Amino acid sequence: MNPEWEVVIGLEIHTQLATKTKIFCGCPAGAPEGKSVADLGPNANTCPVCTGQPGALPVLNRQVVEYAMKAGLALDCEIRRENVFSRKNYFYPDLPKGYQISQFDLPICEKGHVDIEYKFGGKEHTKRIGVTRIHMEEDAGKNLHMDEFSLVNLNRACVPLIEIVSEPDMRSAEEAGAYMRTVHAIVTAIGVTDGNMQEGNFRCDANVSVMPKGSTKFGTRAEIKNVNSFRFVEKAIEFEVDRQIALIQSGGRVVQETRLWDSAKGQTFSMRSKEEAHDYRYFPEPDLIPVHVDEKWLEKVKASMPELPTQKKARYVTEFGLSGYDAGVLTSSSSLAIFFEETLSLLGGAAKGLAKSVSNHVAGEISRLLNEEMIDITAAKLSPRHLAEIVKLQAGNSISSTNAKTVIGLVWKNGGVVEKIIETEGLAQVSDTGALEKAVEGVIAANPGQVAEYRAGKDKLLGFFVGQSMKASGGKANPTLLQEIVKKKLSS
Ligand SMILES: [Zn+2]
Repeated sequence: MNPEWEVVIGLEIHTQLATKTKIFCGCPAGAPEGKSVADLGPNANTCPVCTGQPGALPVLNRQVVEYAMKAGLALDCEIRRENVFSRKNYFYPDLPKGYQISQFDLPICEKGHVDIEYKFGGKEHTKRIGVTRIHMEEDAGKNLHMDEFSLVNLNRACVPLIEIVSEPDMRSAEEAGAYMRTVHAIVTAIGVTDGNMQEGNFRCDANVSVMPKGSTKFGTRAEIKNVNSFRFVEKAIEFEVDRQIALIQSGGRVVQETRLWDSAKGQTFSMRSKEEAHDYRYFPEPDLIPVHVDEKWLEKVKASMPELPTQKKARYVTEFGLSGYDAGVLTSSSSLAIFFEETLSLLGGAAKGLAKSVSNHVAGEISRLLNEEMIDITAAKLSPRHLAEIVKLQAGNSISSTNAKTVIGLVWKNGGVVEKIIETEGLAQVSDTGALEKAVEGVIAANPGQVAEYRAGKDKLLGFFVGQSMKASGGKANPTLLQEIVKKKLSS
């Protein structure tokens, strides 16, 4: 980043809550079990309430309030005991009522924070990012623009969302990416959302501005709307920062506007000038009474909170002796943590001793493959059963750590049975002393000069002999055993 400028970023994250029904009516909030929302017919999930028919009245879904409270507790927020829904008025065809029911000045959660950790410039950084508020609201429908007319699909209208608004505490694209990843890990771990980013169930708006280094007055900000990938949010912010700095340096002025990210072109472009809050004429929703959260209800929700990623991470460090970094990778998504723990449970009594090995594979090769293919571990061919078997064979010296990685790669591609793959690919490790001695003897006989040097005190040559002998074994020798034999043969 440009050293003369300071970047200021705040994120608004919209998360669809994983309730069965919509926020103000009994319509299903998503697709039936085993189906995708893409399979739903247009306007299949609609009724007089979510299509905004005159006289239809909203009824608040209690589950939505509980999920919002859970998110607030997980992000260390205060829960407002009396919170109020408001009307946000604007006209757009995907909003049949002419207003969105949201929360304005009295949201359900306030004053929270999230601790982020990220690697940048080869170093690990930690930072606390403030959460200004979390409020509940309904989603709008979707417009589909044809050549001469437009279509409206209201399946999404009235689907429950929470909006998590951060303080403008982030100072780089990396911090924004780390914040978004951390919030995603938290809200999916507590089960309030499926976090599916392809379907738009977890997306963010990034407010970005720049100011000269040392200044305390924020610059004019642009809002980048609806970014639904961690990588895109980082790229969009980097582009936007460069654009704003270049604009100011060439004598121009940043205007307050809403911009969109074009991932194909790798740039943001202007969509419309940004509205101010007063443009929406907010007022309290007269069809809903204020939400009253009493002590009993709050205690019940608190008691239902599962282990949070930060707690899980601390537990992995103390219980299994993992590094903070590895434990962080394992708890970055709840599905990865479940994969890790299922593998351990399959290892039974040996789990504690092998946890480090399991963690090395999950945080190493498996994470690399997941990132490369941008999939979730639940979609992979590799199962906890496969990994448990690989780790067991590695611990028993039947395969080397290098070949364990190779087996993971092969199962990843084609699935299959671990033992069979090792056999057909010839990946088993040789621990047969007789065979290894033969290989070492061959290497010693072929390199009399180096043998003499070693015996004269050049200890460094040990690595040479081990390497040559490993080569002679076709890379299959048990390395500890091989080293022992090389030492023995050279000193005899
Ligand atoms: Zn409905």
